[in-house]
Amino acid sequence: MPELPEVENIKIGLKPNVINKTIINVEYSQKIIDAHLEGKRALVKDELNYFKENLIGKTILNLERRGKYVFFTLNNGYLITHFGMTGAYFVVTNIEEIENKNYFNHRHIIFSLSTGEKLVYSDIRRFGELRYLENLNNFKPFNTLAPEPFSEKSLEYFLEKLESKKYRNVPIKALLLEGNVFCGCGNIYACEVLYKEKIHPEKKASELTREEKTKIFKSLVKILEFSIEQGGSTISDFVHSDGGEGNMQNYLQIYGHKMCPLNHDTENIVIKTRSTYYCPKCQK
Ligand SMILES: [Zn+2]
Repeated sequence: MPELPEVENIKIGLKPNVINKTIINVEYSQKIIDAHLEGKRALVKDELNYFKENLIGKTILNLERRGKYVFFTLNNGYLITHFGMTGAYFVVTNIEEIENKNYFNHRHIIFSLSTGEKLVYSDIRRFGELRYLENLNNFKPFNTLAPEPFSEKSLEYFLEKLESKKYRNVPIKALLLEGNVFCGCGNIYACEVLYKEKIHPEKKASELTREEKTKIFKSLVKILEFSIEQGGSTISDFVHSDGGEGNMQNYLQIYGHKMCPLNHDTENIVIKTRSTYYCPKCQK
């Protein structure tokens, strides 16, 4: 699943290729059309006609990220995208330029641009979400998400949440995955930061000192920044908008590893349905 660093890289890669271009048509794959006919809003969360009618003729003025969402600011309204598990955008002149066969085969939404190019949304497992919004004020995920981790008020907000009645007795690993506690962390980085800070993933927020909580926060921000520089992680299906791969997977210390860097056997437990790697010797 693309996490914050991956989505940030998608944004960085995509932005110069879409700015100031106008959407002149929107086409859907037969799979998406059929799903919508069955009443399932696969990928497009609006009615297909509504989505299309509201995007045709709109010019893309900006592309930004909030959490794991990217949103295109249009001259009127917004196109919001969440990549789910396996979503990706490509800007191509010919569809055949999508070299990855999986993404080529699972291209589902094609936005024709005024330049003759196509902005293609591919999604193998189809857990992504696209929608058109007239304004962002009423979009609930944006209103409930924690502040962006790189913003100033973010640490204070994080500590407040961890000390709240609601979350005090929840394992720290689960809290790092709560978008309204920390914005844009995700499973890989939650495992990594707890290994780095030598904290057991099942430890409850109330069992951590303020200093430990602060260290987790700062360390997580650093890991995310480093991962953005490395182009994100390529664990399974994540590719950049240009089809390139990130390098962060080469720096992961615990996620997906049988041994920690100190050669102890790692363990894998499930916390809130997510597979959690940790080292029982290093993390207490
Ligand atoms: Zn260890």
